[in-house]
Amino acid sequence: MSTETRQFQTEVQEILNLMIHSLYSNREIFLRELVSNASDALDKIRYEEIVNKDFKTDPTEKHIRLTADKENKSLTISDNGIGMSYDEVVQNIGTIAYSGSKNFAKKISEMKDSPELIGQFGVGFYSSFMVAHKVRLHTQKAGSDEGIIWESTGDGSYTIEKASRKEGHGTSVTLFLREEAADKEENGIAQNFCDQWTLKSLIKKYSDFIEYPVRMEMEKHEPELDSEGKALEGKTKVSREDEVLNSQKALWLKSPKDISEEEYKEFYKHVTSDWNEPQDHIHFKAEGTQEFSSIMYIPKTLPFDYNQRDMKYGLSLYVRRVFILDNCEQLLPQYLRFLKGVVDSSDLPLNVSREMIQQDKQILAIRKAIVSKALRHLEGMLKDKREDYENVWKNFGSTLKEGLASDYSNKEKLQDLCLFHSSHSDKLTTLKEYVERMPSGQKDIYYVTGDSVKNLESSPHLEKLKQKNYEVIYMTDPVDEWVMSSVHDYNDKKMVSITRDDLELDTEEEKKQKEEEKKNHAERLKSVTEAIQKALSENIREVRLSDRLVDSPACLISGKHDPSAHMERLMESMGHSAPKSKRILEINPEHPVFAKMLEFEDKRKADWAEILYNQALLNEGSPPENPARFSRQISELMLQG
Ligand code: ADP
Repeated sequence: MSTETRQFQTEVQEILNLMIHSLYSNREIFLRELVSNASDALDKIRYEEIVNKDFKTDPTEKHIRLTADKENKSLTISDNGIGMSYDEVVQNIGTIAYSGSKNFAKKISEMKDSPELIGQFGVGFYSSFMVAHKVRLHTQKAGSDEGIIWESTGDGSYTIEKASRKEGHGTSVTLFLREEAADKEENGIAQNFCDQWTLKSLIKKYSDFIEYPVRMEMEKHEPELDSEGKALEGKTKVSREDEVLNSQKALWLKSPKDISEEEYKEFYKHVTSDWNEPQDHIHFKAEGTQEFSSIMYIPKTLPFDYNQRDMKYGLSLYVRRVFILDNCEQLLPQYLRFLKGVVDSSDLPLNVSREMIQQDKQILAIRKAIVSKALRHLEGMLKDKREDYENVWKNFGSTLKEGLASDYSNKEKLQDLCLFHSSHSDKLTTLKEYVERMPSGQKDIYYVTGDSVKNLESSPHLEKLKQKNYEVIYMTDPVDEWVMSSVHDYNDKKMVSITRDDLELDTEEEKKQKEEEKKNHAERLKSVTEAIQKALSENIREVRLSDRLVDSPACLISGKHDPSAHMERLMESMGHSAPKSKRILEINPEHPVFAKMLEFEDKRKADWAEILYNQALLNEGSPPENPARFSRQISELMLQG
């Protein structure tokens, strides 16, 4: 095959441009990215060897090698890992398989001014172009004799040709360093990526825990000795010695007290491709029915592809330090899908496959232990590091809440981890804190769902509760509606929606006291309620005298088992337009508007009924039934004013 020239996918070129013109001060991380890729390729071949005994692979040590060439200003990172086939090179290096790529490209173009965000996209291999004006990749897939040379200067196209690799399977990436990356000082830091000392310290800094040796031939300068063994002045002898630059200790097997914060952070970047620091880590060793070690991380920011349909989640699974598979979903329930990290089991067989894992009892036991550890950790954060926890909640609270509906065995723990806005203050509150504040007469926990705290705060449904000094939880997360349909109580206290008809704010005694008064109101307003009922028969199920209003004339409530108005709006916005359930219009018998209505003839009563109904809709965040007609009615009212 002769040399072929191909164009980069638009999105890839966008990233490359950003890399090439990046002023990002942390260019050195390209080395971590490439070493990380090499380590992944070695993981993959080791796994192939285990499951495929007939596979012929390089019998020499699995390793990564750095070769610096000062004269030509180049640096090569090579491995004897799995390598790539022609199709894989085209697929992996040159396109982004991520299906939301439009979204991706858009985000990338928005990042021009804040390159530190690049990290969220896991640009990996492309980071080479931060330091290189040309990149050459020579790779050969294990089991094949056909090698591929890929080359690009990052300006729109790349070349690709077939050429076997003399070392056999594996990959070498050669970076032809830009002038400023070969010998330049920036902010007092040498940016010399073909200098052996720079490289050695970068490996130590970023890749010390990589399991495979990262080797480099180090030049040693020693004084030349005379026959008596004395140093000859001004004369040095240059020798070359192969050196392993990393300590190769799997971080998760070390004791937490021997690991620095820096090491945890670097490992996070290795496992996630997120360049930001993690919010927190959970490192533990489980003993008992299942023996395993794990390091899990909570990201500090929302990953860019979070909740996309094709988002991958799960932990990386190792068995006795051998990498088995990544994104192992079986190790985490969906509602903890924001956790990233590794699990290394001592008990599983080395040849476990993705299929076997589906129903494996041992995996289930590990998952159970992970869930309980993770929830306990979050509980600790909530108690001791509230601010950090609130950030976790901001990013992943709605994910965590899904557990309330899906993991019954941990319902109480999850309830204790929930934070809510409430009418108490503008700070978030837990249910426990809410209960502690409950005044003596209050029996239930009250909540209301809606689009925003601001709208909920002025909801008429709250009037009586405010008067009684009962706190109301504001639920504004779209998942709340769905979650609350499976949560009915907390610590033996009922959770009651204040927009439903089963709300009971009065004590038995109060109810008795009011009975007479209520009867009188009903009789007095009979003609009004009948007129409203008649005028709105298409829209509402019934008109009732309200106990929950103080200042407003009317509000709408839902039947005990009907969806709330907010739920109906959410469903509608998602394209499910089920027929609306008819609701109940509650009127405030003390409001002067009804005394006034008593004096009207039927036509005017009907008009006002409509206005009251539309007002109630507006108050709960729903649009009026017929906005033009409503606004005409208001104008007429103003004129009558
Ligand atoms: P990521 O590593 O996050 O997937 P990269 O852009 O760094 O993204 O790499 C893209 C893909 O190219 C990798 O997923 C891997 O399949 C392949 N690749 C990169 N480097 C190597 C290598 N040294 N050996 C084999 N495959 C590699």
